[in-house]
Amino acid sequence: MLKVNLRHLEEHGIRLKGELPVAELDLDLNDDLIRVEKPLRYNLSVELLNDAVLVTGSLALPLNCECARCLKKFSTDLKLANWALHLPLEGEDKVSVDNDCVDLTPFVREDILLDFPQHPLCKPECAGLKSKTARKPKALEKQDLDVWAKLDKLKIK
Ligand SMILES: [Zn+2]
Repeated sequence: MLKVNLRHLEEHGIRLKGELPVAELDLDLNDDLIRVEKPLRYNLSVELLNDAVLVTGSLALPLNCECARCLKKFSTDLKLANWALHLPLEGEDKVSVDNDCVDLTPFVREDILLDFPQHPLCKPECAGLKSKTARKPKALEKQDLDVWAKLDKLKIK
């Protein structure tokens, strides 16, 4: 569990660094193209404000994807590099505290899902399966090179 003990924050902020197993992240995915098999990595700093907990840092989740266009398998990291979470301890939106502990897991899960790729692509410009038959501009390049080669010969003479 990715939990913060508020008592540990009373004197100074803490650093949370580690991995959260896929089972605990419990993403409940229904996606044929993306599989999550490796743990989420987190590197967070947590501090206690007057009436809130502030969490900032980075999250990275390795994804095993299948390209939505060309069906090639590839791996990528879903990264939230400047993740920030403000959890009020007072008022209507206050976060639930259990034995002085706040569970960050649901907030991590929510933001990971918000950032989840809808159509994974092996590369942004992937042309898909038809790319093999696509016209290649090589003929043109060769012609250009020939012209230069001829010019070079002219200069030598
Ligand atoms: Zn592709």
